[in-house]
Amino acid sequence: MSHKVLIANRGEIALRAIRACKELGIKTVAVYSSGDKNLKHLKFADETVCIGPVSPLESYLNVPAILSAAEVTNVKAIYPGYGFLAEDYSFAEKCDESGFKFIGPNSETIKMMGDKITAKNIAEKAGIKVVPGYKDALPEDPEKIHAIANEIGYPLMIKATAGGGGRGMRLIENKDQLIDGLEVTMQEAMNAFGNKVVYFEKFISDPRHIEIQIVADGKGNAIHLGTRDCSIQRRHQKIIEEAPASDLNSESLLNTLNSCLKLCEDINYEGVGTLEFLYENNNFYFIEMNTRIQVEHPVSEMITGFDLVKAQLKIALGIPITLKQSKISFRGHAIECRINAEDAKNFTPSPGLITKMHPPGGFGVRFDSHIYSGYEVPPYYDSLLAKIITVANSRSSCIKRMTSALDEFFVEGIETNHSLHQELMHDEVFGKNKHTINYLENEFFKNYE
Ligand code: ADP
Repeated sequence: MSHKVLIANRGEIALRAIRACKELGIKTVAVYSSGDKNLKHLKFADETVCIGPVSPLESYLNVPAILSAAEVTNVKAIYPGYGFLAEDYSFAEKCDESGFKFIGPNSETIKMMGDKITAKNIAEKAGIKVVPGYKDALPEDPEKIHAIANEIGYPLMIKATAGGGGRGMRLIENKDQLIDGLEVTMQEAMNAFGNKVVYFEKFISDPRHIEIQIVADGKGNAIHLGTRDCSIQRRHQKIIEEAPASDLNSESLLNTLNSCLKLCEDINYEGVGTLEFLYENNNFYFIEMNTRIQVEHPVSEMITGFDLVKAQLKIALGIPITLKQSKISFRGHAIECRINAEDAKNFTPSPGLITKMHPPGGFGVRFDSHIYSGYEVPPYYDSLLAKIITVANSRSSCIKRMTSALDEFFVEGIETNHSLHQELMHDEVFGKNKHTINYLENEFFKNYE
């Protein structure tokens, strides 16, 4: 194939995308900010273009700069990764208008599913259970708003329809907090997302976060790669993910998996995507869909042998999915630990020079990372340094393999959350898979010195 793709991202996902392109014989253009000259993947790309200064707004979010780079290097397509412009429908639209294929769903689909209210309605139509709540525009009259809230019951969540990244939501415990909380959330949503529309959702008190990976080609073929459990979270941000999610009700799971495929059919979805759920009392409640590759995609790859990034590229090239669902075999268990440049105790960011580091290795160990000895972690971007992924025949063997991988790994010069992962691998509740999304913050940290 004589194609060329521009990778509009940085860090580990840019490296991941280059590796997939190489395997498919696709040439690559890496773009970078002036603060990112030493990124590892720049050495492996066929061409590199500096797109602006360190500020993300002037570089990785700078659409004209990215499109100009695409123009001068004469690429066919643009790979967005996750974060930055990956779920920005207007970027996808501009790519198409400028003659570049945006590697992902079309802009209308991104827009539709990026609006959480619309996404919940579409999910419901496909037969998926959603978190109960109120999904229409809220009335102006405070009395009517109170009546709606009473019907849902307290505590409830106010969520921004355009929200993301764990932002744009507020827990309301009783009626006295409702109207003030509503005003503040709307204002915050306006400031953060340029859209003040919010909705009410029942607060699910102690669920697990379960998600389903789907892949569809926009030509009527859709498959799923099963579930992931991402319940180890801090401030709604995932820290550890695993596949498959254990101990799920098999009937609910089967129904939900089938409905996810139905949703792909209903909206003629093209690309990879993730449907996220809160799982409690044997029920899956849909919260949102991400129309992009996710940080935690490797755990699904490791238990299926299915390369999700290569699939994204092939789908964008118009190659149909020929693999049938029945031919996907799920084997063993995979866990991913996100190593962040942050203090393990107080989570303050810790950018700076990595004086020395050593990656883990061996049977069933995967290390997706852009860091190396002598790399300086810039302070301007997200703190993800590395993803350590282990795969083994069972969950307990996988935890042991991760423990050993973490013991081999070290980074010197900056602080990381490495020791937090080590402790979690020895934690009894995690070991028994008894944790929910509240466990890390409400219980584990209480005993964490
Ligand atoms: P974002 O798009 O910002 O990631 P989500 O809607 O996916 O937002 O929710 C992120 C996390 O917030 C969930 O994994 C869960 O921890 C928490 N959460 C969201 N909605 C609810 C709810 N209705 N009840 C309880 N927790 C919730």
